[in-house]
Amino acid sequence: MSKIIIYDTTLRDGSQTEGVSYTVSDKVKITQKLDELGIHYIEGGWPGSNPKDKEFFEVMKSKQLKHAKLAAFGSTRRANIKPEDDANLNELIASATPTVTIFGKSWDLHVTDVIKTTLEENLKMIQESVAFLKKAKREVFYDAEHFFDGFKKNPRYAIKTIQAAQAGGADCIILCDTNGGTLPEEITKIVKEVKRKIRKPLGIHTHNDQDLAVANSLAAINVGAVQVQGTFNGLGERCGNADLCTIMAILHTKMKKKSIDEKSIKQLMDSAYYIAEISNYNLQNNHAFIGHSAFAHKGGVHIDAMLKNPLAYEHINPELVGNHRRLLTSELAGKMPIVLKAQKMNIELDKNSPEAKAIMQELQEKEYQGYQFEGADASFELFMKRRLKLYQPFFHLDGFKVYTERKIDSTVAAGATVRLKVNGNDEMATCEGHGPVEVLDRALRTALGRFYPTLKDMHLSDYKVRVLDTKAGTGAKVRVLIESQDQHDSWTTVGVHENVIEASWEALVDSIEYKLLKEKK
Ligand SMILES: [Zn+2]
Repeated sequence: MSKIIIYDTTLRDGSQTEGVSYTVSDKVKITQKLDELGIHYIEGGWPGSNPKDKEFFEVMKSKQLKHAKLAAFGSTRRANIKPEDDANLNELIASATPTVTIFGKSWDLHVTDVIKTTLEENLKMIQESVAFLKKAKREVFYDAEHFFDGFKKNPRYAIKTIQAAQAGGADCIILCDTNGGTLPEEITKIVKEVKRKIRKPLGIHTHNDQDLAVANSLAAINVGAVQVQGTFNGLGERCGNADLCTIMAILHTKMKKKSIDEKSIKQLMDSAYYIAEISNYNLQNNHAFIGHSAFAHKGGVHIDAMLKNPLAYEHINPELVGNHRRLLTSELAGKMPIVLKAQKMNIELDKNSPEAKAIMQELQEKEYQGYQFEGADASFELFMKRRLKLYQPFFHLDGFKVYTERKIDSTVAAGATVRLKVNGNDEMATCEGHGPVEVLDRALRTALGRFYPTLKDMHLSDYKVRVLDTKAGTGAKVRVLIESQDQHDSWTTVGVHENVIEASWEALVDSIEYKLLKEKK
């Protein structure tokens, strides 16, 4: 079974998605998730184009990846200078990644009209830049930008550009459908022709402007491309990039080609939602393979047929990609995933028990209200344990009050008072500071500090708010996600309410209860 190399560019092409903006710590988290999954290459960014990407590579120097190789992205040298004098190429070397990917021009029109140099100089720029990076002992991938459009207009020149990359020593040459306008049959024909002229391994990088990015990637793989570039959930500017989740799922379930391990394919759904949450991006329910509705059956006839034989209305077993069957109007609606998650937390739960049924119903109700637990495992665990009465709450809230004040000198201050009962004692704490959530968090911890001294070892590491659709026609709700960490671990909790402070409070309380419960174990 041949293996297809997966090259993820969520952190570079994906970060160009309208509305998506990653902090350095978001990028580190996504990198770690992709690495856990066994993705072969992770493109971290373009260090020559912005300080954030440069900082990311700085941070990554002290982090070990278990499976993936990190790649820095950049362009060929500028016209008429030496590679060693090119700031961009030097930034790539300074990033200290094992792999470097550079792009260059394949389309003659781009050479003469966009970068305004001669066709001959462009070939030198490609060959010399690749050779310079090879001399610095990097694995070098060459992205042939606009390759398919260039090939259609001037095939001889397009081929010359990738021959220049080959002569420079590129380890893999990636053909890019940068404008996303090529059709699968054109991809097949052109990749076949390129294969006759290029000895180096080929890769494919497609954009989704015609909803064909996945089809185009698979067309190239079918005729011999061994590397596929894309993003998680198809993030990317305009209509996005090729969706790696879908590609890996199809490679595994339909084409019998290996990419990442079977075990990791089963993590695809969870990982896709995790990355979507960090990206503050709403994954569509009808997303192929990994969407919530991808295996949700509603029609009465379908459900009846499904119960007799799932093959009747499903193209694969949903569990292969970590998804699950949902029968929306049935008593049996998706209890299995709950039972499986319970098992992961060492909770015994019989799928036929009344508890499982009640939990399922409550969970559906919560999801309807706007909760999403994929990105908030700690809240999910607490939800299950509360429901099954597996622990006693560590404190009870009597009440809290939060204010925000804008003063005459335009400074803004906030304060919070929290009143609690802990082991029968009344506790109260007041804190002042800058932001309402920050002071609420501090007041809560101050009130609890005397009883639970280990709380000082944890802190909030991330806070995200998302405004939810108002399906029920009530006021807009918000979902707050809070990430907390201590020396060992990080965990995420969720709260939903019309009031952002109440939603934050809910996530804060879960965060603290989770820490205390973890310590008790
Ligand atoms: Zn791209």
